[in-house]
Amino acid sequence: MNSFIVMQGTTYQEEKHLGIIWSPQIDKSGLVPHSSKLMQEVKSGDRIFHYVKGSIVAISIVKKGCQEDNKPQKIRNHTRWTDNGYLVETEYRELEVPLNIREYFDGIAPYLPIKYSAFQEDATGNSGYLYPCNEELTLKLLEYMSMLNIFNSDEDQLELSVDEVIAKERNPLQALLAETESEAKMNIRCGQKKFRKSVMPLWNHKCPLCGIEMDALLKSSHSKPWKDSTDDERLNPYNGLLLCFNHDALYEKGLISFDGQGRLHISNQIPEEEYETYQLRKGIKIPLHPDNKPYFKWHKRNVFVD
Ligand SMILES: [Zn+2]
Repeated sequence: MNSFIVMQGTTYQEEKHLGIIWSPQIDKSGLVPHSSKLMQEVKSGDRIFHYVKGSIVAISIVKKGCQEDNKPQKIRNHTRWTDNGYLVETEYRELEVPLNIREYFDGIAPYLPIKYSAFQEDATGNSGYLYPCNEELTLKLLEYMSMLNIFNSDEDQLELSVDEVIAKERNPLQALLAETESEAKMNIRCGQKKFRKSVMPLWNHKCPLCGIEMDALLKSSHSKPWKDSTDDERLNPYNGLLLCFNHDALYEKGLISFDGQGRLHISNQIPEEEYETYQLRKGIKIPLHPDNKPYFKWHKRNVFVD
């Protein structure tokens, strides 16, 4: 299961009514936008968060994955340049209380990908149609959606009658949120486990910066973070780097990075006299595989804080 965020604006009502999302195959300038490529990846069972005017207003479960289809006639003519498009059939569940992105942006921002984020830094929605939503962001959105939409009617009631319990269990929105949450958690758990297993031997089971070998103190870091990676990149062992917990934290925060030669770069935020405390040696090179290079470069360009 993957999740996506769709930015619908004025087409929301029509698309909800038809139980679909639809996007043109090419944009005004005749190019294939990122949204169109992403539309083709939507599969049955995936989840979609529906964003309208500042808020997530619904979540849906995809009934039929992407197919080529002309723009349905009921959808107003916003895209005059083409009728050729991609269509996904999906079952909408509207939230009683929409999730206002700006209100919860502090909690959401850390999980947004650096590229192709649905939201800008000022919490407004971006202008594309479809955006990826990684598992961590999915879990964060679900947490807020559940908080706003579940058990808000009779919180202070100590005992629920049997009827009410049954009613709650049958609440389709609640069931969908719970199911989505457990699938997203499972995706993360399975992915991380597999990733770690394939990364460990590539680094001889030890941190290349300090030599720590104790299993419990080692983490398999992603150079291109989980939130920014495609499914393949998330599991690609060469996107991984085995580091001890301290060095992993520095790497994740972008306080250290490596270039295409495997040379260590240290952020100016760490004063030189503290290098020893953090077990960092200026200019040290770690052994890398050629396939690590693009990921190291991505990290240095996008995550490293110079
Ligand atoms: Zn280390």
